[in-house]
Amino acid sequence: MTELSRLPTSGGCREEPILKQRGQREVFCGLTGIIWLHRKMQDAFFLVIGSRTCAHLLQSAAGVMIFAEPRFATAILEETDLAGLADAQEELDRVVDQLLARRRDIKQLFLVGSCPSEVIKLDLARAAERMTERYAPSVRVLNYSGSGIETTFTQGEDACLASMVPVLPVMKDRQLLLVGALPDVVEEQAVGMLRDMGIRPIKVLPAPRAAADLGVAEGPLFALTQPFLSGTHAALGRRGARHLPAPFPFGEEGTTAWLRAIANEFGVDDATFDRVTAAPRARARKAIAQASESLRGKSIFFFPDSQLEIPLARFLTRECGMTAIEVGAPFIHKGIVGPDLDMLAQGPTLSEGQDVDLQLDRCRAARPDLTVCGLGLANPLEAQGLATKWAIELVFTPVHFYEQAGDLAGLFSRPIRRADLLRLEAAE
Ligand code: SF4
Repeated sequence: MTELSRLPTSGGCREEPILKQRGQREVFCGLTGIIWLHRKMQDAFFLVIGSRTCAHLLQSAAGVMIFAEPRFATAILEETDLAGLADAQEELDRVVDQLLARRRDIKQLFLVGSCPSEVIKLDLARAAERMTERYAPSVRVLNYSGSGIETTFTQGEDACLASMVPVLPVMKDRQLLLVGALPDVVEEQAVGMLRDMGIRPIKVLPAPRAAADLGVAEGPLFALTQPFLSGTHAALGRRGARHLPAPFPFGEEGTTAWLRAIANEFGVDDATFDRVTAAPRARARKAIAQASESLRGKSIFFFPDSQLEIPLARFLTRECGMTAIEVGAPFIHKGIVGPDLDMLAQGPTLSEGQDVDLQLDRCRAARPDLTVCGLGLANPLEAQGLATKWAIELVFTPVHFYEQAGDLAGLFSRPIRRADLLRLEAAE
């Protein structure tokens, strides 16, 4: 029997009704992804075509970059640029010319769209094609949208990776493609374990450099490491690649099931699988047991934000003893989070999309021990005596796979312990 088949799946949430609401939303936009993507893709440059607001968002979110040669910038379009779109295209060409003349290290240039109406009217796909013709083969120019009208903050990464899929070359050998930007140390752990099981070649999208030997093989297989990559999932499907669905590698159980789904596909026997995973599994279980002491019996409420909500609810309820009241996600793609839904016990309200006032009412009425939400909601909820966890931290912190499982539980236990201490102090 495989690890995957041993996991109880009956009584899961896959077929449970989903509360769908549309109204005002409180989320960051997809430009935020540039903050972690520019670190992963070392010869890429992200040129945001946007407003001063976009420039401020990037500068404040990644202010440290001003000390280094940055790999992102904002070409600011003013209202007056609306006077002539042809002028705007020329202006964009001029900015890109200057940038590429000065920065020979850039091999991939992403033109990133944003919200302002003057930007929406610009045809960035055509601009990218025109520039690719001009700068090939030394620079590849692609485009995607990070606009807050179209994207939540993790969708920026999805849109970026999806834009790369159509231009990946065809490779001859069967390969495993791991899809999703992870901190280097975490990526090395995942690739290392899979290699120790004899699985190769393994490629990762995004690769650190454009020239990396990355492509889409014949009969290609891919595994997602992030649950928010539905656009990339679809783009790879259009290239004939096959997704290996699995719970996401959060916690001991999720990591084991994720590795098992890949190992099964590559015919890894149980003895090899156990030899590679036994020690890190034991470490993960121990670390989770320690870090989750203060989580047991506590309730949690997820506002829709990072799209990590369903896999995290599965981890926190099954491995940390929490009770989920509501699990909100911006989008629920069952082809991607279905295996996590199978393992999430029935009980919580599953919600997709957001009408933030109605959801705040439900949260206040439920008074959860911990609320996971965006920065804009956290302060008001804290002021009302609710402990909160910022969803964005979950994307910036290494949380995947065995060695990070204890840290992942710790991210949730810290605000609960702090709230407990504050209550004690107030009572004294
Ligand atoms: S893309 Fe839109 S939401 Fe994001 S910073 Fe720019 S204007 Fe604001």
